[in-house]
Amino acid sequence: MYRHLLVEAIIVAALSFPAFLSAQPVVRILEPSAQSGTSAPTVLLKGVAASDSAIVNIYWTDHLGHTGPAEWTPSAAGPSTSLAFSAEVSVRPGANRIAVVAVDNQNRSGSAQLSVYGEGGRGPGVSEIRTGWWHGMQVGYAVIDGLAVVEGDIILGTAAQLAASAPPGPGSVSPDGFALGYVSDLWPEVGGGYQIPYTIETSATNLNAALSYVNSTLSGVIQFVPQTSQTNYVTFNFDPTNTSGSCESSVGMVGGQQFVGGSASCALATIVHEMGHTIGLFHEHQRPDRNTYVTFNYANVDEPLVAGNFDIPTYNYQTIGLYDIASVMHYPPFSFTKNGLTVLESMDLRLRR
Ligand SMILES: [Zn+2]
Repeated sequence: MYRHLLVEAIIVAALSFPAFLSAQPVVRILEPSAQSGTSAPTVLLKGVAASDSAIVNIYWTDHLGHTGPAEWTPSAAGPSTSLAFSAEVSVRPGANRIAVVAVDNQNRSGSAQLSVYGEGGRGPGVSEIRTGWWHGMQVGYAVIDGLAVVEGDIILGTAAQLAASAPPGPGSVSPDGFALGYVSDLWPEVGGGYQIPYTIETSATNLNAALSYVNSTLSGVIQFVPQTSQTNYVTFNFDPTNTSGSCESSVGMVGGQQFVGGSASCALATIVHEMGHTIGLFHEHQRPDRNTYVTFNYANVDEPLVAGNFDIPTYNYQTIGLYDIASVMHYPPFSFTKNGLTVLESMDLRLRR
């Protein structure tokens, strides 16, 4: 008996269930992990729910409004501590945002969420999963009856159109953006174009590819050039022992030597993004007009990361052209999520990814 109570006490502590307070049910999903992928048509969720009153219902719901019951055994009328549940949930191609909801006899509910990425082609009518380019964005899509479909029900076009679409390359540079406003923070004009002198202290796997991508894309506009005698320059200095895949850069020209650094295994797109900061670009989603185009879900983001990554600056900035949700300077939807849910969500359904 004592042992049994001890086990229960540990589980309750793990649930951080406030035993002395009257509170809504607490739900924890234990399997699968917060962000996972599957090629199967369904995923089996397992977890626990607790409440200081009897739990009367546990069910799942997804972002498309599908819903279904969980399997669980009701306890007696008293408190429901650490009730185990399981639920078999249909997975559709693309991102599936799934919530498990527990309701108690006081009609209070609590929930837990997770994201499951459906990689599989076993959904209804899905013949293939492909990646391609759509309006300059790289997208993963399912081919259903010859159509390219994302998130289960959003049609981007025909599969043939998507297959023929090309990645953004030289000449496709967007004239839109968000940058430092003070000219003294920008790099100098040399012979009709702008130059950023650089040195390489410790390279990254994708640095050379990033340099040639940026220089060919911005040909005739802005060029990274090897430093000769310039006093203001950037040094690429990556850490080969850092495998986090995250990198950093100052914004604009600081004066003297400045650095781009971080993980030597940063993705090509990440290094291009950091070089955008070096050029003087801020994050596109920090433009003052962003709330017209995206919803910033503050509740889903790791709060210490909001400042600097999502705040809208109040001085020393210029908005250039139109808002560009496909910009390499725009964070993807799940950046810095603390719960697997969307942080930046396009208001245009066709642009959700
Ligand atoms: Zn950034």
